[in-house]
Amino acid sequence: MAGSFYPPQRTLMGPGPSDMNPRTTLALSRPIIGHLDPLFVQMMDEIKSKLQYAFQTTNTLTLPISGPGSAGMEACFVNLVEPNDKVIVCQNGVFGGRMKENVIRCGAKPIMIEDTWGTPVDLNKVEDAFKKNGDVKAVAFVQAETSTGVQSDAKAIADLACKYTSLTIMDSVTSLGGTPVKVDEWSIDAVYSGTQKCLSCIPGLSPVTFSEAAQAVIVGRKTQVQSWFLDMNLIMGYWGSNAKRAYHHTAPINPLYALHEALCILEEEGLENAWKRHQYHHEALVAGLEAMGLSMLVKEEHRLPQLNSIKIPDGVDEAKVRNRLLNEFQLEIGAGLGPLAGKIWRIGLMGHSASQRNVLYCLNSLESVLLTEGVPVPSGAAIKAALAEYQN
Ligand SMILES: *Cc1c(COP(=O)(O)O)cnc(C)c1O
Repeated sequence: MAGSFYPPQRTLMGPGPSDMNPRTTLALSRPIIGHLDPLFVQMMDEIKSKLQYAFQTTNTLTLPISGPGSAGMEACFVNLVEPNDKVIVCQNGVFGGRMKENVIRCGAKPIMIEDTWGTPVDLNKVEDAFKKNGDVKAVAFVQAETSTGVQSDAKAIADLACKYTSLTIMDSVTSLGGTPVKVDEWSIDAVYSGTQKCLSCIPGLSPVTFSEAAQAVIVGRKTQVQSWFLDMNLIMGYWGSNAKRAYHHTAPINPLYALHEALCILEEEGLENAWKRHQYHHEALVAGLEAMGLSMLVKEEHRLPQLNSIKIPDGVDEAKVRNRLLNEFQLEIGAGLGPLAGKIWRIGLMGHSASQRNVLYCLNSLESVLLTEGVPVPSGAAIKAALAEYQN
């Protein structure tokens, strides 16, 4: 139709959003019903229990916030942190910096622990910070740093929090559905995630979960949560388990159909199989990239399978390569951020994008572009190495 917007069909292998499973895309166009319709309420209950599975938790306060991952982040901070609280914030990439902003805006005091971008959170520094500062309210960290492709040891950080009786706030936006997130086993108190990364759903929803201890803190606050929209006490009136659901805001109805479908797909595959699939395709991708002569930013033991940071070879116009991939191959990969801008490319293998088809397509496309840009990559080596990895 004249004036309508028709986006091209891209292959999404950046830091999110990821390719959507056509089943999830179709779910969006199912008929709209009311947000208090009994059938809709029943579907909300199913979403809650499917999210409990994805998070590996029995927490009753588990639901999708109506807003992107950043809204889930904010929900965790505004509900748990009160003015003058001390919060240890671990920063080893972009998202730790946003956690610091959240702490400051809650009127609380961030205690920053900084690690080089491309390395995980240093546990010794976390323990030192606990030792130096009494009565820390919470420690906040990013399990899967999408800006660098690094995985930090969530269980070890949670163990420290337990030892020093502090709450834990964890960013699992990129980890959920891609690598293990074991909320109960690790005793994490507040976790937020996103839907457009390894869940391969549309952007704009943020699954969160709060432990019993976190719920007690929210109920027992001395001050009101400064955000009306994100106040969990109010959101519970709509998403809660009591039979009477009251209007809080109009839920994003069709996006929730899509989330329900994406969670059905995750259940059908099984969480552990999904984690294995991400690792499997990651290994093939890395084998291909290395055979091409490229090298990875992150040490092998700290790499995230779903986000691969590759060092840009000397003399390559990195933005031109990305633009050519987008325009000539309809393939999106990500650029570096902050101190890594111009230094790395980020190739995502998230959710539906983590497939052999995408890995081989990406290696082929990248090789074609690099060859025509005059980079002496050995022709055909990447595909050969990736296929050898697949045959292992
Ligand atoms: C993408 C991302 C976010 C933010 O999610 P939005 O949906 O863009 O608001 C937060 N943390 C991490 C680690 C992310 O990768």
